[in-house]
Amino acid sequence: MYFIDENYLHQLIDNKVNVEDTLVDDILAKAKELNGLNLEEVATLLNIEDKGNLNKLFSTALFIKEEIYGNRLVLFAPLYISNFCSNNCLYCGFRADNKAIERTTLSLEQIKEETKAILEQGHKRILMLMGENHKETGLDFLIAAIDAVYSVRDSKQSSIRRINIEIAPLTDSEFKVLNDVKIGTYTVFQETYHYETYKKMHPSGKKSDYQWRLFTMDRALSNGMADVGIGALFGLYDYRFEVLALIQHSKYLDEKYGIGPHTISVPRIKPAMNAPASQYIPHQVSDIDFKKLVAVIRCAVPYTGMILSTREPKELRSELFNYGISQISAGSKTNIGGYKQALGSFSEIGQFSLNDCRTSGEVIQDVIKQGYIPSFCTACYRLGRVGEDFMDQAKPGLIKLFCQPNALTTLKEYLIDYADEETKRLGEKLIQKELDTIPNENIKKKTKEFLSLIDKGNRDLYF
Ligand code: SAM
Ligand code: SF4
Repeated sequence: MYFIDENYLHQLIDNKVNVEDTLVDDILAKAKELNGLNLEEVATLLNIEDKGNLNKLFSTALFIKEEIYGNRLVLFAPLYISNFCSNNCLYCGFRADNKAIERTTLSLEQIKEETKAILEQGHKRILMLMGENHKETGLDFLIAAIDAVYSVRDSKQSSIRRINIEIAPLTDSEFKVLNDVKIGTYTVFQETYHYETYKKMHPSGKKSDYQWRLFTMDRALSNGMADVGIGALFGLYDYRFEVLALIQHSKYLDEKYGIGPHTISVPRIKPAMNAPASQYIPHQVSDIDFKKLVAVIRCAVPYTGMILSTREPKELRSELFNYGISQISAGSKTNIGGYKQALGSFSEIGQFSLNDCRTSGEVIQDVIKQGYIPSFCTACYRLGRVGEDFMDQAKPGLIKLFCQPNALTTLKEYLIDYADEETKRLGEKLIQKELDTIPNENIKKKTKEFLSLIDKGNRDLYF
């Protein structure tokens, strides 16, 4: 249906392409050229079952991620500002029919308090989210909330440098208004690309309109949004169908607008209160299939950032860093007012349950121990390296020339301002090691200058 060709995608899945070793080797060799894969190739990789081929797939995904982005992992924190919702998504704790949850919209003052608590964890990026409720939380409220977040300074005089948003689909005219607001990526998950499943899972509210949601990114991109993020909620339908559809969506956007998705998110359904589809997950995705699908997406759309949230447990998250994940949330709360419980009697109940409940500090130390650079970089968006400009750098693997030094300078800030002694020690060691690997001598020299300026108290230096 529409640009998602369901029959064709089912055909690809049902064909059960003969996954011969030589075919897999050929596809993975093509993937290493960093130009992506076609849908037939993606379907073949999704059908891999044996361990040897899976391991080859995983190592290819890691190779691609490092070629494009280097070994940095960008960190962010989600900020939920309202749980009012007029939709009834069967998997979500915020659904309108869940009468057991206390409904709250944060005041601008409370949003500032939450922001401060997030800043004190060292974050510079926020993903702002809310339910869909036009009466309670329309576009004016969103814009005021964004202004409120940017206005906050923490004890180090630091501020949020990039806000991404994940909110209900907007109209053409709303996107035009949003154009003048300082946001990074605009994200909406299709949840499931399978029409019938979509209709079943979204029985009422505006979100029950499949087409309205499917064409969200067309409205966004044709009304001036620069970076958009897509995703599917894994567990609603066959994961192979969802991956093929995500790739078909990406190719469609790239061909039509010259801009593929800036990010692809891979949430799996987790238990949520009074949300039947989260208790009886229709198409549960096993851990091994989940690892496979992450690696396949990395091979198929090498230039796209891939986001993993704290829905997944820490061991699995650590493993997935090796298969192509490039952005992670840390220290997350999905209940309203969750960062600063002192805000009052807000509901303890989040949108869904989390499996990595460590503090940001713990996650960051662990990332360093794994040899990845935790990055708080927001440079591209602030330098206008967005949309096609970003893609022009990302597709040939040039963006890592900026990613790596920016990861080092933002990590340095973090170590000085927020880290405990052990993280400081490990982080400094990593910075010294990474400095040596910067391939461009000018950038290396400038990075060293930036680092010593940061030591002397300067902040926010980037390429
Ligand atoms: N309300 C807006 C919407 O639906 O587009 C904004 C995003 S909603 C706050 C964030 C996302 O959480 C949803 O798009 C959905 O994919 C995901 N989600 C909802 N229930 C979930 C669950 N039980 N487990 C994991 N993810 C869930
Ligand atoms: Fe509302 Fe979004 Fe939850 Fe659906 S997923 S019930 S739209 S908050």
